[in-house]
Amino acid sequence: MPNADFLARSRAAVWHPCTQMKRHETLPLVPIERGQGVWLYDFDGKRYLDAVSSWWVNLFGHCNPRINAAITDQLGKLEHVMLAGFTHEPVVMLSERLAQLAPAGLGHCFYASDGASATEIALKMSVHYWRNSGKPGKHNFIGLQNGYHGETLGALSVTDVALFKDAYSVLVKQNATVMSPDSRNAAAGESARDYAVRCAGALEQHLQRHHDSIAAFIVEPLVQGAAGMAMYHPIYLTRARALCDQYKVHLIADEIAVGMGRTGTMFACEQAEITPDFMCLSKGLTGGYLPLSVVMTTDDIYQAFYADEMTHGFLHSHSYTGNPLACRAALATLDIFAQDDVLAANRGKAAYLNRIVQPLRDHPAVRNFRHTGMIWAFEVDSPHADFAQRCFSLALEQELLLRPMGYTLYFMPPYIISETEMDRLVAGTLSVIEALT
Ligand SMILES: *Cc1c(COP(=O)(O)O)cnc(C)c1O
Repeated sequence: MPNADFLARSRAAVWHPCTQMKRHETLPLVPIERGQGVWLYDFDGKRYLDAVSSWWVNLFGHCNPRINAAITDQLGKLEHVMLAGFTHEPVVMLSERLAQLAPAGLGHCFYASDGASATEIALKMSVHYWRNSGKPGKHNFIGLQNGYHGETLGALSVTDVALFKDAYSVLVKQNATVMSPDSRNAAAGESARDYAVRCAGALEQHLQRHHDSIAAFIVEPLVQGAAGMAMYHPIYLTRARALCDQYKVHLIADEIAVGMGRTGTMFACEQAEITPDFMCLSKGLTGGYLPLSVVMTTDDIYQAFYADEMTHGFLHSHSYTGNPLACRAALATLDIFAQDDVLAANRGKAAYLNRIVQPLRDHPAVRNFRHTGMIWAFEVDSPHADFAQRCFSLALEQELLLRPMGYTLYFMPPYIISETEMDRLVAGTLSVIEALT
């Protein structure tokens, strides 16, 4: 059904996210009718390989039969009930299973509907914890340079991406940032590990001076997604955990993008063998089906709110907190991880992609090729100032959905991608790069 008229109506009625709408005068929106596996289909039967998992959310493909069945079953029972004063089976089961899977000690789950809200919750809980503990002066945060934690006002205060933040600086609290361990910034001859250790030293200096006023340090473990898939050595997290303990500052692990197997382990923190004080999950939590987020925290934090006084409690809420349909999608997602031994299967897929990607890696215009788990990224030397836009359009012609960030191209495919589909992804990307360099 979509024709030019439909796309014009869409532009007029729908204000699209992260978009300069005027660009769509010349760049047509892509109308999608249905999805199947890694493929998205438009109304003319043209298809696109979803190499970015629809903004990093999809894990097991579009229209996954097992997740569909779980949601359909739940629809016949209970679509939603408020979670204040009430409870239901999916939310209890999900909380227990997440606690079993997560780094030890994160036994309490607080739910919301999107990633930014999970960040808000972790920040508020941290400050409220210190207030309840007689330390109301600890109300500032630290984040990493180029960190991204969402775009609501509290989340923006710990986000360090000028494009998202500058226009709202009058509304946003100014928090400090410390050196990112992004291994691309290592000095010549310095290993990723040595650079991460050096950056942890900078964190220590900051904590030494300011710990009295700091509630929490928030990080994206192992991969800073919106920074352009900046990857770093896990020793940074191990050191950060020790420093936060030493200086009595909470560690918030924002695993919204990297959790749920994306970095090769179920949660990225596992690779540093740490338990954060707060762990935020969203994006892949429901397999990319429904908006749901969770903040998992420790008994120490939970107990600081447990009291007779109402005001000691954590009074934050969202209408759809713990939505049963979303919880069932998340439970079905966890079932697939267990039934299909997904982490082991992904290691095989990553090994295959790493083999076939060699010609791309060796391309003279490709720099900083890097890989963690099911994320690959590299920079492209291109003379085109509008590289990202051109790359996106040319990729569509190759049946690929690629969405570069600046000159950084990345693959973050659904875990069900097959070898043939990986072949297509690499070959299509190579021809796009050839055309743009
Ligand atoms: C996407 C993302 C968020 C924000 O999640 P939304 O659901 O888009 O609000 C926060 N932190 C990280 C690391 C993310 O990648």
